[in-house]
Amino acid sequence: MKFLTLLLWGCLFTLWCLPTNAMHHKKKGKKMMQAKAPYEYYEERGLFETGLKPIFPKEVTCARVASYFGSKTRYDGSKRNNSHHGYHNGMDISLQQGHHLLAMSDGEVVHKGSAGKLVGNYIWLKFSPNDSGMSQTIFARYQHLQRASPLEIGQRVKKGDIIGRSGKTGTIGGYFGSHGYPHLHLNLLVSQDGKYQTKGAMLGPKSMHYLDPIGLFVNTPLKSLDNHQLRQLPTEQKNVAIAVKTQFQFLPKEAKIIWPVTCPE
Ligand SMILES: [Zn+2]
Repeated sequence: MKFLTLLLWGCLFTLWCLPTNAMHHKKKGKKMMQAKAPYEYYEERGLFETGLKPIFPKEVTCARVASYFGSKTRYDGSKRNNSHHGYHNGMDISLQQGHHLLAMSDGEVVHKGSAGKLVGNYIWLKFSPNDSGMSQTIFARYQHLQRASPLEIGQRVKKGDIIGRSGKTGTIGGYFGSHGYPHLHLNLLVSQDGKYQTKGAMLGPKSMHYLDPIGLFVNTPLKSLDNHQLRQLPTEQKNVAIAVKTQFQFLPKEAKIIWPVTCPE
């Protein structure tokens, strides 16, 4: 009798369990497809906080960094939710709409457009070693511009040129609701050979690594511009002096790379 009861319960359990398990696996499969690549892939490409902090010249007032590169939170402390495991792939500076966005170095416009939600109006600049004095080519995407940049693809820019104005395009309707969130999201990629292709708002190939924008101002000689190396710097070298453009001048004058927004004196 005991055996029969066990058998009956066993059958009932199997009948209930099999379809539930199948459903569970199906759900899991769908979820895994959405997550795209494992975090290790992004870690390799430098997607993590480096611990670098900007130190601005005493004479100026610069908008603070509202969310650092690699941060898992937004400016308001809320947790990020994105396809790259919640890590921030750029640096956010909160700004009033219409603030001047600046070319960080001499360079060239290589791409621009509007990508709607999350990106908005954007522009990609290329800073070659000859222009920036850096050892590698840097590609920079400025996002959420108020209007499409007036610059044309192929056009040369000089350090400090206004490449557009800050806005909130691409931030409306999602987490930030109908009001949006005016800010600059700046996304930097490092390339060994300077070759690139574009797909939608993205620029590749994927062999390029992410770069914490503050890393461009680090004075310590590095083998290469690499977030892994920046992360390993001793604490005292992580407070980085930033060169800026005010409404009157560059500080310091000879800087080849400057902060991407105007800092008034
Ligand atoms: Zn951002």
